[in-house]
Amino acid sequence: MNSDRIKQMSYKHGFLACGIAKAENLDFESHQLKNWLDMGYHGEMAYLEKHFEKRTNPTKLVEGAKSILCLAFNYFPEPRNKTDFKIARYAYGDDYHTVIKEKLFALMADIQNVIPNFAGRAFVDSAPVMERQWAERAGLGWIGKNSLIIRKGVGSYFFLAEIISNLELQADTPETDHCGTCTACIDACPTQAIVQSQVIDSRLCISYQTIEKKEPSTLSVEDSQRWIYGCDICQEVCPWNRFAEANKEPKFAPRDIVDWSSEEWRIASKDLSLIQKQIKRSAMERAGVKKIASQSNAQLDSTLPQQG
Ligand code: SF4
Ligand code: SF4
Repeated sequence: MNSDRIKQMSYKHGFLACGIAKAENLDFESHQLKNWLDMGYHGEMAYLEKHFEKRTNPTKLVEGAKSILCLAFNYFPEPRNKTDFKIARYAYGDDYHTVIKEKLFALMADIQNVIPNFAGRAFVDSAPVMERQWAERAGLGWIGKNSLIIRKGVGSYFFLAEIISNLELQADTPETDHCGTCTACIDACPTQAIVQSQVIDSRLCISYQTIEKKEPSTLSVEDSQRWIYGCDICQEVCPWNRFAEANKEPKFAPRDIVDWSSEEWRIASKDLSLIQKQIKRSAMERAGVKKIASQSNAQLDSTLPQQG
């Protein structure tokens, strides 16, 4: 059967899971998105207001769309020594957009060889696609209270990607919720950004403040818990992430900046080209050198010995 063959092919390309959903309008989810936007929880991310119809209906985004192949790719790194300058794990290595896109293109070429009438478009966090909602529908996992997809036996440290295809494929059963009575992520969030189950007020979220917000973060060093790019707290405390295993993708090997000491950050604060070299073609380019430097400088200042 085509669905099973495609799934088997995806594992050969290193994906840890592949599920299928029928391409159709996201009725319930579009209401949720509208409410979230109406609350202003997206902050300065105005691009999320655009293409509402395409975002909530894949047949408007890709002509002839019949199925959505949802894929997961592990990015969990090997454990590292703790540093005071914390970077979200997904950004340790090369930019996932590029790395995963290459894998999607290779997978699509393989599918085309076996199923010549296959056509599709590949997406990795780069177009109006409601990735987590599709992943839940495709059975990859459930949307946890921290708003991320959690997968039994794996956790949540993986990228999501989609191939929107013209093939009628056997859809998977959506995953059910397994958060139960746990509230560890809500309790641990230092800025109370998880305003209710599965709802994040981005404006309060360290990840938004340190990446998406154009101006410098308004959070204190204490509130941002020494994260200078992104934040993994609501994943670190999730009991399902005790199953996380290190990824084997060489392109996700951590760059030196991940382990820089205070002294190295201090040197880089006087020569920003050192940061530039480290973040080139990594996901950290999204925040840019100046923003990263301003966050690391705030931390350096907070650790200066008190005068007098
Ligand atoms: S990423 Fe950090 S700040 Fe944002 S919701 Fe999770 S714990 Fe809170
Ligand atoms: S920490 Fe608990 S409530 Fe939050 S996503 Fe994980 S299981 Fe769900």
